[in-house]
Amino acid sequence: MRWENLATGSEHSRADAALFGAEAVTTRTFDTPEFRGITFHEIRARSIVNRVPGASRMPFEWTVNPYRGCTHACVYCFARKSHGYLDLDTGLGFDSQIVVKVNAPELVRRRLASDRWQGEHIAMGTNVDCYQRAEGRYRLMPGILAALRDHANPFSLLTKGTLILRDLELLRQAAEVTDVGVSVSVGFTDERLWRTVEPGTPAPERRLEVVRTLAAHGIGCGVLMAPVIPFLSDGPDQLRATVRAVAAAGATSVTPLVLHLRPGAREWFMSWLERHHPYLVRRYERLYAEGAYAPKWYQRRITRQVHDLAREYRIGPADGGMPRRVRTPGPAGVPVSGPAQLSLL
Ligand code: SF4
Repeated sequence: MRWENLATGSEHSRADAALFGAEAVTTRTFDTPEFRGITFHEIRARSIVNRVPGASRMPFEWTVNPYRGCTHACVYCFARKSHGYLDLDTGLGFDSQIVVKVNAPELVRRRLASDRWQGEHIAMGTNVDCYQRAEGRYRLMPGILAALRDHANPFSLLTKGTLILRDLELLRQAAEVTDVGVSVSVGFTDERLWRTVEPGTPAPERRLEVVRTLAAHGIGCGVLMAPVIPFLSDGPDQLRATVRAVAAAGATSVTPLVLHLRPGAREWFMSWLERHHPYLVRRYERLYAEGAYAPKWYQRRITRQVHDLAREYRIGPADGGMPRRVRTPGPAGVPVSGPAQLSLL
């Protein structure tokens, strides 16, 4: 392990601290194979429970995001743009320069204990994945979940990480006292596509295993079928295979979301497309000619197909058979239709 404390008062360190909105930044690298090539910027954040900007269409108001950047490295990740705000690279830098808010659990606990806190729903996994590989080392989520449980504060979680199973008991305890919603993101089951477009994530089948395990422990889990990638994972047989696998895993709901390509993600995705599927570049330029979103007719078609399949495979209703107080919202509370303010976890 190598580390360098940047809280030395140098001009460079002060700039970094200001950039991350923190008092100090400690940069670490680890030699273990799983973290090779990854740099962690440990910070003590000033706040962690953040209000979603008023203009947002999200059905939740408060979020907790203990990390920035994500080693799951999904090519299409919407959160790439936010790395640019830190003056970090939105391509490989997003995958390998990870900001860790090491004091996240104590900040959550303090906020929930404050007189001004009204016990509102908190959504996690809305920007980057809180169960990405870094969580295996930093273990921030157990402290956060324990604080939520102790204050009986409702929350939801969206992830692609199998590491969530480590915290099964805490989730179960929280669900005894408050509303807990868990969703896992599985956009498709095609292994070849997965290896290139979501190279740092657990395989789709392993994510479905998470759904299965959570269900077996009485924690209902929905699946955010995101993203559905035009021309690569949207064929009728592909949609059917995915919904069938989601149903077999025991998911309580399935919510499709078509790929969106905002600035930051768009450039990175298109350069990937050029390398792996050059014959599709022109079709994408046409499909996304109006901006970040595929045309409404296309989104509606996918939604209708997935809903029909969900009916056929009898997924849902979302709260059917769930233990009391455990509910499965849309993905992290996200509505089915409309562009979501998510990183497409
Ligand atoms: S889409 Fe989610 S899991 Fe993938 S890189 Fe972005 S935050 Fe991580």
